[in-house]
Amino acid sequence: MTAEKINLLGLSRGKLKALFAELGEKPFRAEQVMKWIHQRGVLDFDAMTDISMALRERLKECSEISPPKIVEGFTSEDGSHKWIIMVASGSKVEMVFIPESDRGTLCVSSQAGCTLDCSFCATGKQGFNSNLSAAEIIGQLWWANHYLGGFKNNMERPVSNVVMMGMGEPLLNFENVMDAVDLMMDDCAFGLSKRKVTISTSGVVPAIDKMKDFTDASLAVSLHAPNDELRSQIVPINKKYPIAELMRAVKGYMESLPDRRVPVIEYTLIKGVNDHRQHARDLAALLESLPCKINLIPFNPFSLSDYERPSNTSVSNFRRILQEAGYTVTVRTTRADDIGAACGQLVGDVVDQTLRSVRHKKNKKSKIGKVFDRADNLAVTADRI
Ligand code: SF4
Repeated sequence: MTAEKINLLGLSRGKLKALFAELGEKPFRAEQVMKWIHQRGVLDFDAMTDISMALRERLKECSEISPPKIVEGFTSEDGSHKWIIMVASGSKVEMVFIPESDRGTLCVSSQAGCTLDCSFCATGKQGFNSNLSAAEIIGQLWWANHYLGGFKNNMERPVSNVVMMGMGEPLLNFENVMDAVDLMMDDCAFGLSKRKVTISTSGVVPAIDKMKDFTDASLAVSLHAPNDELRSQIVPINKKYPIAELMRAVKGYMESLPDRRVPVIEYTLIKGVNDHRQHARDLAALLESLPCKINLIPFNPFSLSDYERPSNTSVSNFRRILQEAGYTVTVRTTRADDIGAACGQLVGDVVDQTLRSVRHKKNKKSKIGKVFDRADNLAVTADRI
């Protein structure tokens, strides 16, 4: 039986150096290979002209450089791109590139499906299939550079920012995400600033606690509610790790960073559920002790959900209350609607081993009804904007 080849694409500098040490090679050879793969976009060992023929042959015997397969690509009228990627488990995941005047942001997936089932999320409705390997995660950035011309000589890299806000909860695929993030920021690979690589979590507290030992990337937190009762309905992991524990872990991580950076608090505004003025006031009070920026995301409707998008007035009132309390607030504008690329609510085509999507179709009405009942019980309907 032939041994499975090691995929060099997903190896961090430390792991690649360890492999080269096993082969009896100098560590700087690992750095040369990294630059060929991640800076020049080369997948063929024979094109690595500053590596000896003998080493190239040895590498071919034990390893490969294999990005995941792209099965489809779409370009939006607004210049955004979405690609569908087939991963080893047979599921399809999505990545989205959003160009803006001063940056190019790639939204990357970390899992095929997701176990966490946040109530507003299309990915969560599909159940969980698999973790992506480090090569399948960094491979998304590799492909984006390949398609957008980032590997050409003298071309400015088109992707300046990466957000781990695609399919999946990044911190439930910890080691692979940390290796991929390492490569995103490594000067021998993509060399992105730590301020421009953001890991977004729904609140896996033990993983946030250990992040500081592995990375200094930026952090975004999917909060979506200002109190535990409501958050537990929208983000079920809150039942296990309630808001107070989450705030403690986020503060701990931010304090571990050598520079002054603040987390981004993500808040999806859902009509009639969490978009009342009292929610905004409660959110302002909750975040008083955590320096942060707030990103409001008007809910983007999809077929498995009965949630609705809030009105523009409702969004601007919510924003105003937070701004008056002293917060920097952004509102995510809808991009690439024509190609179904709402970052953070990606759909993909997951092999749903949990049959969760079937359950969601059956229970759709009753479940959504429950959330609205809950909001009514909180006596906030009188305060509707
Ligand atoms: S929002 Fe993120 S963590 Fe929640 S279900 Fe969707 S992919 Fe999973």
